[in-house]
Amino acid sequence: MIIFSNPSAQTYTYKSEIKKKIDKFLNSKQYINGIEVSNIEKKFAKFICANYAVGVANGTDALELSLRGLNIGPGDEVITTTHTAVATVSAIIAAGAKPVLADINPESYTINVNQFKELLSSRTKAIIPVHIYGNSANIHEVVKFCKKNNLFVIEDVSQAHGAKRDGVRLGNYGDISCYSCYPTKNLGALGDAGLITTNDNKLNKRIKMLREYGWRKKNISETNGRNSRLDELQAAILSIKLKYLDRDNNKRIKIANIYNKRLSGLDVITPITEKGVKHVYHLYVIRTKKRDKLKSFLAKNNIIAGIHYPIPIHLQPAYKNNIKVAKNMCVSEKFAKEILSLPIYPELSLEDVHFTCNKIRNFFSND
Ligand SMILES: *Cc1c(COP(=O)(O)O)cnc(C)c1O
Repeated sequence: MIIFSNPSAQTYTYKSEIKKKIDKFLNSKQYINGIEVSNIEKKFAKFICANYAVGVANGTDALELSLRGLNIGPGDEVITTTHTAVATVSAIIAAGAKPVLADINPESYTINVNQFKELLSSRTKAIIPVHIYGNSANIHEVVKFCKKNNLFVIEDVSQAHGAKRDGVRLGNYGDISCYSCYPTKNLGALGDAGLITTNDNKLNKRIKMLREYGWRKKNISETNGRNSRLDELQAAILSIKLKYLDRDNNKRIKIANIYNKRLSGLDVITPITEKGVKHVYHLYVIRTKKRDKLKSFLAKNNIIAGIHYPIPIHLQPAYKNNIKVAKNMCVSEKFAKEILSLPIYPELSLEDVHFTCNKIRNFFSND
């Protein structure tokens, strides 16, 4: 069976190092906000080239606390994309603000910058570009628009840890950046985890308060916070995996290059990367009008492909009647019926990649 993501394969790769860390942890006396949390915060900030990193409980909280850290809440609007994990939108609502959704660019699958003018209002406070699938959003244009209109940029880098544009890691362009470390992500824990990076020390300090009951000092709540601490054991796992992140991303890229080559000439659209972008292929997503047939054909051959995502957020039952969207949402609506995520993860054997390509070629030649 070939599946589209496989975090347990990665656990197996790093098993002996993970076991050593867990053994060490069993002798430790500090289970909360200990040495491992501050360690991964230092290392991750250095990796991204940001001044500060803050560990939090998960990626959704990273977004919510970033919004609250920037004092965005009730009465405010935040523009983001409809083609994302539902968490991006639910975090805006959790912070008390209103999500406003743009469609996507048909080549990058990332937010359509041309709709910003239409969506901007006097209540708009921030834009959240999502670096979907490991590809870069049109971040220079997002930043330019936000500077001009006095808005914050919150990068959602949950699918693009380590990706770059113009030699700079994503997560460096915004005022603050959020990363999920859910097990399947490029930097994944063995459970829930999240990180935030920023260059602003005030924001860094404020988010550290918000993640722990609003405490500046122990037991003194200066603001209303909550508990969204990064688990000490997960922090330890992340610092092992971070050492290998670039190498693991390069393995994903190698697999993507094989898919690109072997699927060319078929009636499928393979991912497009702009010049200057290092796409890290959290997902390898193709498009075809025969998506459903191809997906079941692959399943019959023990290849499990995924769909990210089957329903755009603005059409989800929870949001379809109560969310502000751009007039034209046709790209995301059309693509939801055509996208297919092929198996990709660092441990996937090249043999399995070629097998998958052979099956896809068979499908189209017998069609
Ligand atoms: C995974 C993901 C999140 C949410 O992260 P959790 O850790 O599951 O809360 C947010 N945004 C995007 C784009 C994601 O892919």
